[in-house]
Amino acid sequence: MDSLLHFFLPQHCVVCGAYVALPSRFPLCERCQSSVIYLREGVCFRCGRTVPHSGILLCHVCRRFRYHFEFARAVSAYTFPIREALHAFKYGGVVSLAGFFGLLLVRYCEEFPFLLDVDGVLPVPLHPSREKTRGFNQSLLLAQEVGRAFRLPVLAWSVLRVKPTLPQVGLKAKERRQNVRGAFRVRRKEDVLGKRILVIDDVLTSRATVESLSQTLKDAGCRSVMVLAVASGK
Ligand SMILES: [Zn+2]
Ligand SMILES: [Zn+2]
Repeated sequence: MDSLLHFFLPQHCVVCGAYVALPSRFPLCERCQSSVIYLREGVCFRCGRTVPHSGILLCHVCRRFRYHFEFARAVSAYTFPIREALHAFKYGGVVSLAGFFGLLLVRYCEEFPFLLDVDGVLPVPLHPSREKTRGFNQSLLLAQEVGRAFRLPVLAWSVLRVKPTLPQVGLKAKERRQNVRGAFRVRRKEDVLGKRILVIDDVLTSRATVESLSQTLKDAGCRSVMVLAVASGK
């Protein structure tokens, strides 16, 4: 029904408001789609954070601290138009944007195929109370796009978020780590034991959430963890 309505109703770009010519695959105009800047170089080899120049291998965090994931990468910086589109996706409920973000993730994996050397994709679980309020888990929708494109199992029920955490926005680094400590629990051990897993998230900021999840996975016998997100914030 949704797609039928979209076919008949004029659509406006969720980022800039411009009229989107029909039929269009995504509620995003061509100009905004082509403004996405991919993060390819100038990122930390380990955690994918942007570094001051491309000659730097490891960021200031990774020089002192070893994350439990092997690598984390994001398709783009958390700037226009990704920031606006992610906002419409998560808080405006424009779930049809999952296809657009899915395409970005798929293209990125094709460009960096080491990310596909895995046994399954795992969306960052939401706490049931948060998922109920939002109506969906944005990471699950993204993981389904990646899983479908590369025929990888989507581990939607393997890990639970057992601790209702505060939004990480506005918390200091130490508070973020405390906030998500012990937030996850492996529910189906056989899904992770000895497996190589690609975690899918929407936005990476401090890496505290994916680090907590990676630690839980490693403690449960997971062989390797990589992380891929749509955007990387500061
Ligand atoms: Zn636009
Ligand atoms: Zn780093």
